[in-house]
Amino acid sequence: MSSTAPMLRIEHLQVRYGDLIGVADVSLDVPTGSVVALLGSNGAGKTTTLNAIAGIVPVSAGSVTFAGENIAGQPAYAVVRKGLALSPEGWRLFTQQSVENNLMLGATPLADRSRILRLLERVYSVFPRLSERRKQRAGTMSGGERQMLAVGRALMSDPKLLLLDEPSLGLAPAIVDSMYDAFANLHKDGQTILLAEQSVDLALEAADHAYVLQVGRTVLEGPARDLATNPDVQRIYLGV
Ligand code: ATP
Repeated sequence: MSSTAPMLRIEHLQVRYGDLIGVADVSLDVPTGSVVALLGSNGAGKTTTLNAIAGIVPVSAGSVTFAGENIAGQPAYAVVRKGLALSPEGWRLFTQQSVENNLMLGATPLADRSRILRLLERVYSVFPRLSERRKQRAGTMSGGERQMLAVGRALMSDPKLLLLDEPSLGLAPAIVDSMYDAFANLHKDGQTILLAEQSVDLALEAADHAYVLQVGRTVLEGPARDLATNPDVQRIYLGV
């Protein structure tokens, strides 16, 4: 792999749910160290794309090249060991377990267990709220705290690529702001991120580059600052 190759390259991804098409044709690049946003309205295919990358739903066609290797069709446990971790829509936490136990479960794929303490400290410095609540049961936390926990759990596998599925969904604006401050800090530290988000303004502020999906296809892409002023973005969202 040349040094200019992106960390992740998706080419003509297609995902079928039986006769239904979840993603028809998605192509995108995520360069190392960048934050890339995947935009689109409800049902555009953002979650399906992230789940296909993470090995949670099967890929019907196309390729998912990560660090030079086509990982399309590999199971989720193998994908996470390669250095991709997903913070899923709906969080999927162990609600009866403590915050800290949920975080420790995120470290399961790590071969070197001696790194766990340092990773835990990193998560607690990114989200101090989780440190305050480390002994609390996940099921008793607010939506914002659960979202932080889902991101923190993904960070516990020390991913090269962090996949974030709609981290602002259903949260109060003040929580969303602190969440996105945390993402900005991760970006500054060199974390590569692919971010699916319905909120265009938020995502374009956080991202370097963005892709817009419409009915399962990438229909527009560009530097985030260009898309922020591109009237086609609004047009696509409104489905005109
Ligand atoms: P949302 O913001 O609602 O999550 P999205 O952009 O993430 O939207 P997807 O959830 O990926 O979109 O959905 C893409 C398409 O695939 C939609 O038409 C949806 O109805 C369909 N779809 C998603 N999951 C399934 C499933 N398990 N079975 C059948 N169809 C599905």
